Amino acid sequence: MKKLTSLLCTAALAASSLAAQSPKYIFYFIGDGMGHGQVMGADAYRRLVEKRQDKILMLQFPVAGMATTYSANTPVTDSAAAGTALATCRKTKNNMLGMSPDSVAISSLGDWLADLGYGIGLATNVCPDDATPAAFYAHVAGRGQFHDIARQFGDSKVKFLAGSRLRGTKTDGKYNGIYEELADKGIEIVRGAENMSATKSDRVLLLNSDTISTNLGFTVDGPTGNTLGQFFDAGIAHLQRTSPDRFFFMVEGGNIDWAGHDNDGVTIVREVLAYNDVLRKAYDFYLSHPDETLIVVTADHETGGMTIGQKSTGYNQYPQYVDRQHCSKARFSDFCWDIINNKKPITWEEMKTRLETQLGFFTESKLSERQEQRLKEAFDRTFITHEGKAEENLYSSYPEFAEVAYTIQNEMAGYGFTSGKHTGNPVPVYAIGVGAENFGKPLDNTDIPKIIMRLATANER
Ligand SMILES: [Zn+2]
Repeated sequence: MKKLTSLLCTAALAASSLAAQSPKYIFYFIGDGMGHGQVMGADAYRRLVEKRQDKILMLQFPVAGMATTYSANTPVTDSAAAGTALATCRKTKNNMLGMSPDSVAISSLGDWLADLGYGIGLATNVCPDDATPAAFYAHVAGRGQFHDIARQFGDSKVKFLAGSRLRGTKTDGKYNGIYEELADKGIEIVRGAENMSATKSDRVLLLNSDTISTNLGFTVDGPTGNTLGQFFDAGIAHLQRTSPDRFFFMVEGGNIDWAGHDNDGVTIVREVLAYNDVLRKAYDFYLSHPDETLIVVTADHETGGMTIGQKSTGYNQYPQYVDRQHCSKARFSDFCWDIINNKKPITWEEMKTRLETQLGFFTESKLSERQEQRLKEAFDRTFITHEGKAEENLYSSYPEFAEVAYTIQNEMAGYGFTSGKHTGNPVPVYAIGVGAENFGKPLDNTDIPKIIMRLATANER
């Protein structure tokens, strides 16, 4: 496929006088849906519950800035247009991936950096053919063209791609042969990070050992198979073996976005904390290669319009509720759907016990009379009279009872939400290492790959 190298990027390179030295190791952390509210929720937990004096790692980085995220056709981007901006320096329309608004394929950091000799690695805790990783290797008019996306990974220069499972394995309901197509292109498919040490291949697609889930499982529910941290370790080992001199590693925290669509405040906080733990692994790498490493942390957009504090809690917010919740809204919804769809009997007393163990309701968290009444009414509509209205969202649908229970949890903990989709709020940018100082100012999302490319080509000028 003939690709357009972004004119904007070329101009940026020519005008550059930024760095005397190129980073050899570049980490690009994209917290999907990780806005300021999500980050501050994690930080509040750390300070007020864990009683730590220091901030979460990303807030300790010496450089911080912000990036605007609007797409070519709307103030509220989706992950496809945002991923395209973060990978190619170009704005496009929502739903389009690696293409300009007039459907011309655009080269990405994944192409340019590979041409400069960087080994390219991409890892996510959602699907490897989802929008954010795909923006670094694919060019399609619709982000749902999963078979095309996976094929284009085969034709790309990416050496390591890790995610839960491929979405693009079926066409018209039948298996489409994608694994054989990829194998023909020299890609080894490894199932389970624990099996990576056996691989001798140059190019690998690493999938979760659990083949059913579309994500690696929310941290609050416990992992289903691998974790993003294990994918990170496997990716670093692969890149150090195949491209020891220089590599670029994009690490997406996709679960933050999914929990944001769910408006599940506690699950979001747990995901940001877990993502921050993966970032610590990159930071440890930086500490052993401080003069050769750059780490950039940002988000593709904000999800949910999340705030720390909401009208029910006034000037307060209570991160201790994070420790009381042991089940994501998505998993609790699955539990409710199972009862509804299979016509299983359940009493209000049995459900109260469930809420007690999974959300801390009635014991650790005292509900008001009005809140308990709202729950009971939703229980009757959902499980007894079957009049309850399900809430639909991008990745899940929630029975009314689950919706009401987690809304009450947010009211008590003080997590506010204005949307079940993304918002046009700007996102944070944090950086440390070689050239990090260039990110400490108001940026547009398209500026971030431009700066990375300027830094990566500094030695050549
Ligand atoms: Zn999203």
